[in-house]
Amino acid sequence: MLSVLRQIVQEVNEAQDLNEVLRLIVQRVSTTMSVEACSVFLADYRHQQYILASSVGFLEGVDGKLCINFLEGLVGLVGMREEPINLEDAHNHPNYRYFPQTGEERYQAFLGVPIIHQRKLVGVLVVQQRQSRCFDEGEVAFLVTICAQLAGLIVHAQLAGTISDLPNNLIGSTLQGIQGAPGIAIGTAVVVLTCDLDTVQDKEVKQEDIAQEIELFEKAIALTRSDIQRIKASLDKKLLREEQNLFDAYLSILDSPSIKQDILTLIQEGHWAPWALRKIIKRQVHKFEAMEDPYLRERSADLLDLGRRVLGNLQSEHLPSLEYPKDTILVGDDVSASVLAEVPQGQLLGIVSAKGSANAHVAILARAIGIPAVMGVSGIPGHKLEGKKIVIDGYAGEVFTSPSSKMINEFYRLAQEEKKLHAGLDELRELPAQTQDGIHIPLCANAGLVADLRPAIQAGAQGIGLYRTEVPFMIRDRFPGEQEQYLVYRQLLESFAPKPVTIRTLDVGGDKVLPYFPVEEDNPYLGWRGIRVTLDHPEIFLVQLRALLRASAGLKNLRILFPMISCLTEVDEALRLLRQAHREVVEEGANASFPETGAMIEVPSAVYLANELAKRLDFLSVGSNDLTQYLLAVDRNNIHVANIYDSLHPAVLCALKNIVEAGHRHHKQISICGEMAGEPLAIVVLLGLGFDMLSMNAHSIPRVKWIIRSFTMERAKKVVETIMDMHYPKDIRTYLEQELEEAGLSGLFRATRESQQGLSGITQ
Ligand code: PEP
Ligand code: MG
Repeated sequence: MLSVLRQIVQEVNEAQDLNEVLRLIVQRVSTTMSVEACSVFLADYRHQQYILASSVGFLEGVDGKLCINFLEGLVGLVGMREEPINLEDAHNHPNYRYFPQTGEERYQAFLGVPIIHQRKLVGVLVVQQRQSRCFDEGEVAFLVTICAQLAGLIVHAQLAGTISDLPNNLIGSTLQGIQGAPGIAIGTAVVVLTCDLDTVQDKEVKQEDIAQEIELFEKAIALTRSDIQRIKASLDKKLLREEQNLFDAYLSILDSPSIKQDILTLIQEGHWAPWALRKIIKRQVHKFEAMEDPYLRERSADLLDLGRRVLGNLQSEHLPSLEYPKDTILVGDDVSASVLAEVPQGQLLGIVSAKGSANAHVAILARAIGIPAVMGVSGIPGHKLEGKKIVIDGYAGEVFTSPSSKMINEFYRLAQEEKKLHAGLDELRELPAQTQDGIHIPLCANAGLVADLRPAIQAGAQGIGLYRTEVPFMIRDRFPGEQEQYLVYRQLLESFAPKPVTIRTLDVGGDKVLPYFPVEEDNPYLGWRGIRVTLDHPEIFLVQLRALLRASAGLKNLRILFPMISCLTEVDEALRLLRQAHREVVEEGANASFPETGAMIEVPSAVYLANELAKRLDFLSVGSNDLTQYLLAVDRNNIHVANIYDSLHPAVLCALKNIVEAGHRHHKQISICGEMAGEPLAIVVLLGLGFDMLSMNAHSIPRVKWIIRSFTMERAKKVVETIMDMHYPKDIRTYLEQELEEAGLSGLFRATRESQQGLSGITQ
């Protein structure tokens, strides 16, 4: 069975679209299991029915026409029970249903297996036979394995709208992702290319353009050949003979006439070169993977790597010069912060990314610049979207790829309402963030680029609560020197003086990689991150500390924050180096006072050490993004677990309470600078817990101020008392929503609600 399964997986991977996948599955399953009929039914939730999507045997010919009610027949029973049903004598089962209109034969043997993706039933796979037969355990396990593989493919195809010959209600032009940054954008898709072979889609090449396409392909091959020769030459003395052989192997694959010829044939048939490359490389990779010899099996990785290199060169050939229209919506497999920076100012309206979640840095950046983003969108139909009008709904995490004019108008109306709400909030700019019973909570801004400073000042931020220094490190091609850093920090500190500016020392690792300092780790989030990296490299850390201290000369508003603190020795060591740097710059004549220092509370050990940390430092700042990730053991970028990432989880709230109490015991300021500090529902909780300062992206400041001014501290404390007794995040959220509504703040949710309930229901 294993080899059959492997072969089916290989064929499925090469299939053009879901229809081909389904056809392949029903054919292979019926032959492998020697059954007379095999069918796949897909769930249609809108009409509460299953639709026959593909079949061989009894039901052949009625694909797309046979619909079975969710509660009907044996198929319905498999769906309801969500487990395999194996019947030797199905005929006598009370749920047996016969569909004479389809010409279906009466059958005895039935095995139905549910197709489930992330807890949701997406269909049912059925095998049938006229004669009585009991399928054995191995056969059931085989079907369960097939269905588990099929589930993801079906969902992706449904999201991408590539199920072409199924009934209309299964064709979607809505791509579902998750919220990255709130807001609505109507604009033109600009597709950012990727070097991931798996995401390349097919595109038709017109007859008259085929010669040019072939030329591009040949050029890409030549470029790749010279790249490899260059790398080989540059590493010549550093490599062992066997390692050098690898490059020779690459070159011989490149020159292999069969691979090249197969690709050229596909191009000549009218497919564009990147897709032809994908198809042939993947086919070869699967061949190598299936080989017995471990050495040859390993070569599949080389082939894949080579494929990616050619793709990279092909795409740069295909990319004349990326034009950015005035209403650009960047769409890509992995939209990076550096791509954002390339779009001319004022022309970027939104982001759609296949990778990442709301806590990925590109999403944080999107919120910081106030544009909507939808993350984790699987099945983006890449080049089919290029230059197309699309609508993105950052509240519901949806992308509409071919919006009707009715839909565009509706979204336009919603976007206008949003604008009005913002305009109303502008009036609060000069008013203090003060509760109705007179408690003042400073609101500061998070920043990472000098460009973030103007919005922070405009929003009335009372300082910078988190400046992420990794951003200036990430946009360079080497570590910035002391003077370069000094200039950035000086501008930052001067723009806000005398207001406090909290600058976090370099926090790389996890999903924040410096292109010039690559680190390979199996488990980067539990690896070399934040302070661990800088303490291991005092030569980098001291340069940054010296630049910071020199930049603060005469201003007295610098606060230094250490990231990812997980034990006290890290704080002791960081403070020792800071004292050393301070001594040096003072001796050199700089008028720099010793800054206030603080630690980020982002990992569970720091929560338990909060008391000791508060003794050693002047302030503590909660990084709720990482703290939630580490407390709940949920990768903040992984869309498969995004639904369980919740900063309002009772365990997170409990940790926040401990931190605030520990800090206040030593009369130290406790602030929060993770995304939670800008989340409307969380504000009243943070107030009631006793946080002394909130730091968020500048665009959230007016809303947060509105919320603070709508509550009394007394009420906020009562709210916290109530939620501390609640056990489920969902109950906590519902309760907090009611509280905000009672306080007259329902306007904050109108757009979110309408987009989630009403607009997404508009059909195309
Ligand atoms: C956090 O973890 O909450 C935080 C503010 O740091 P970053 O998002 O930069 O990791
Ligand atoms: Mg963090």
